[in-house]
Amino acid sequence: MTLDIERLGRRAEAMLDELAAISEEPDRLTRRFLTPEHKRAAHLVGRWMQEAGMVAAEDALGTVRGHYARDGEPEGANRVPRLLIGSHIDTVLNAGKYDGMLGVVAGILAVEHFRDQNQRFPFAVDVLAFGDEEGSRFPTVLSSSAATAGAFDTAWLKGVDRDGISLEKAMADYGLDTAAVGTAALTQEEALAYVEVHIEQGPVLEHGDLPLGVVTSIAGQNRTRVNVRGVAGHAGTVPMTLRQDAYLAAAEMALAAEAIAKAHPDDAMVATVGTIKVMPGAVNVIPDHVEFVLDLRAASDAPRAKALKQFIAKAEAIAAARGCSMTHDTYHDCPTAACAPWLQDGLTQSLDSLGLKAPKLVSGAGHDGQSMAKITDFAMLFVRCKGGISHNPAEFATVGDMGLAVAALIKFVEGFDPAKRG
Ligand SMILES: [Zn+2]
Repeated sequence: MTLDIERLGRRAEAMLDELAAISEEPDRLTRRFLTPEHKRAAHLVGRWMQEAGMVAAEDALGTVRGHYARDGEPEGANRVPRLLIGSHIDTVLNAGKYDGMLGVVAGILAVEHFRDQNQRFPFAVDVLAFGDEEGSRFPTVLSSSAATAGAFDTAWLKGVDRDGISLEKAMADYGLDTAAVGTAALTQEEALAYVEVHIEQGPVLEHGDLPLGVVTSIAGQNRTRVNVRGVAGHAGTVPMTLRQDAYLAAAEMALAAEAIAKAHPDDAMVATVGTIKVMPGAVNVIPDHVEFVLDLRAASDAPRAKALKQFIAKAEAIAAARGCSMTHDTYHDCPTAACAPWLQDGLTQSLDSLGLKAPKLVSGAGHDGQSMAKITDFAMLFVRCKGGISHNPAEFATVGDMGLAVAALIKFVEGFDPAKRG
């Protein structure tokens, strides 16, 4: 049968509008993990799952899981192998309405289509709505998907939000049992694969005039804190040739990072200095201490590790040439999570069947798939978004593109064959 792309897109938009109305703040969308608004959104999603023909339940982390039984599955059956489709329903502060929520809504609409067509598969389909992807409340990120993957670290329970409330306390207030975290974990036998639909959050698809794209990997990432020390002095009296200006050294280091990333276009390398402290921070004093953080990402780990070494060597040379010293500390190092080729092929075929090109792209942003990769193969389908903008109320995807994304997900599930797993 032919899919009504326009109708699927309109349904997605209406559901996203309904979810976006659930916010901690009156005039903008903010929905952090384990807040009363998270609970309201989770209930709404659970209701939609039930209306679409799934049995909905909440796990120990508050992740809503809708279960669409496989062909001939007895009621209440355990350990049924399943295809997982998911994304998240938490947001950043002052968010857009597509990031995360589109993936959850797409999964629900796909299952609703199967129910309407009386279609069952030899595997179950679970739709997951995670609550802690953005990390906008606690120091953790991806804690709910980590629990699903059996990789939750109980040390995270002690992390506190800006009001001093621990994750442990927030879970109890939400009605969750911290002792039951282990029960959220799926087994490898149950989790056949994980697939996520998400807005691109970058400009590549729009630039190429392409509605959808197949993700090859989620970029690995380093965060390196650099401290540069020079000598303070009077901004008016110390001649330029006699200065040991820590800020100028740091500025040159940032430009060096840019040059290194630009030299690796094939590795989708990106380098950003997004935070910098200049001390003592007076208009008329030459800075003697600067601290900044280099965020370095790439599509694979080896070139990223090499680039970081190159940066540090270059930065040390820059500091020395300017009479400064530097120290560095890489406090975050997250490896690349590669999308499984057999699932990428499945997505490519589903786009083919819709007459769409299937460009491949790297995700520079983190996603729940990084957690899910610990337990199963995963893949992602990116949806074009206007201007590549996300984490912003201006975030936008068209009805047509969202309809195509749901249709592609439907085709993907119909063509899904766990026997193709390596
Ligand atoms: Zn997201």
